[in-house]
Amino acid sequence: MVVLIPDRFSRAEETEWVERMLARLAAREERIRRTDDELLARARRLTSRYLGDHAHRVAPASVRWVTNQNGRWGSCTPDDGTIRISHRIQEMPDWVIDYVLLHELSHLVVPSHSADFWELVSRFPKAERARGYLEGISAATGLVLSDD
Ligand SMILES: [Zn+2]
Repeated sequence: MVVLIPDRFSRAEETEWVERMLARLAAREERIRRTDDELLARARRLTSRYLGDHAHRVAPASVRWVTNQNGRWGSCTPDDGTIRISHRIQEMPDWVIDYVLLHELSHLVVPSHSADFWELVSRFPKAERARGYLEGISAATGLVLSDD
């Protein structure tokens, strides 16, 4: 890749800008790779790995990325089996997306945030870490987002 930088930039500024451009490109590639189809395949993988004993109930009618979900990382409507995941997490690490998706998939088994629900979610080894990551993002960006 070629990055054009103004002459007046210092060595440190140059390094910073190259890193920033590379990060932006990587993020764009993640967005391109993370399609609705990929999200559905991910949902199936997570279901068989963590919710295998409930697989008959965890068959979402649709799983897709949405841009109109400003207050939540993800949401699930158990009645019609639809799951929506916010584009705000589209560039986050795989394990964060997995957590949010598994959270919503678990709502197809237990609609409320009861102890039974959290037992399902905690099967994902990085669940607590992902919750902390998302809380950190909320705090840092001032966004009030929840994982309903
Ligand atoms: Zn929830």
